[in-house]
Amino acid sequence: MAAQLTAALPSYSPATTKAAAGSSPSSHFLAYPSRPRNVRNGVRAQVSTTEPTAEPAPAAPAKPVKISKKQDEGVVTNKYRPKEPYVGRCLLNTRLTGDNAPGETWHMVFSTEGEVPYREGQSIGVIADGEDKNGKPHKLRLYSIASSAIGDFGDSKTVSLCVKRLVYTNDAGEVVKGVCSNFLCDLKPGSEVKITGPVGKEMLMPKDPNATIIMLATGTGIAPFRSFLWKMFFEEHEDYKVSNFSILDGSTTTQVQNSNPIPTMLALYLSH
Ligand SMILES: Cc1cc2nc3c(=O)[nH]c(=O)nc-3n(C[C@H](O)[C@H](O)[C@H](O)COP(=O)(O)OP(=O)(O)OC[C@H]3O[C@@H](n4cnc5c(N)ncnc54)[C@H](O)[C@@H]3O)c2cc1C
Repeated sequence: MAAQLTAALPSYSPATTKAAAGSSPSSHFLAYPSRPRNVRNGVRAQVSTTEPTAEPAPAAPAKPVKISKKQDEGVVTNKYRPKEPYVGRCLLNTRLTGDNAPGETWHMVFSTEGEVPYREGQSIGVIADGEDKNGKPHKLRLYSIASSAIGDFGDSKTVSLCVKRLVYTNDAGEVVKGVCSNFLCDLKPGSEVKITGPVGKEMLMPKDPNATIIMLATGTGIAPFRSFLWKMFFEEHEDYKVSNFSILDGSTTTQVQNSNPIPTMLALYLSH
């Protein structure tokens, strides 16, 4: 396959939203209600009359019909909330970064038994075990899902994350460890993990199989794109046959061990 590699970043700009609404910029503009007249100092004057009007009242501006360009039909959000999270289990937790890397990043897989249905581009929340300094349960932290919708094992029963361990030195010279990232990076297979969500519809893959996707990421920002690439290259989807793929820069992959599938995946496709 003369594969070229194309990547894409959904756009969140108002312009795209307008285009997604299926209306031209001008028609979109016209659809906005005009600024009300008779408004002074924030108070709108009321005018009433029983006189017949010479001309019929202008029709209310038509609301533009919003047609999503993303694959968002049936996308589930917030099935699990912090008060009643889904309790999954860590199945696998593996360090991706090598010894010389400046940080520590882990790839982990949790069981969901299919109870946390998600799409590529969504995130989940994780509530770390333990309590905060006020004796309350920790607040959830969001993590981009790094697996495709059917999960790394292909059975739609798992969800994977790519997590960087947060460790920094504060102004007092103390080493501070981030609550949730350290909880996750230290998780042992078999341990329970509280999951909320899934959340987010902003980063869903586009419906159009010919859409140009540009993926820009630093660090663990790669996570959602791993799910995209996995779906595009490791799975058979009629609507996601990639025709053109190119890489501009793979700078951080040199510090990633072979357990990370992305370099392998990219190398495989570049060799075709
Ligand atoms: C939508 C979304 C998706 C995300 N996806 C991912 C992902 O895929 N992978 C991932 O690893 N993370 C991801 N994050 C970040 C993640 O949610 C957490 O914020 C991160 O893991 C840190 O959480 P923590 O509990 O370890 O740190 P916390 O205990 O919450 O500590 C974080 C706080 O420490 C302080 N701090 C941090 N660094 C320094 C510093 N150098 N100097 C001084 N103070 C500092 C800041 O006040 C910061 O708010 C995502 C966030 C969002 C919003």
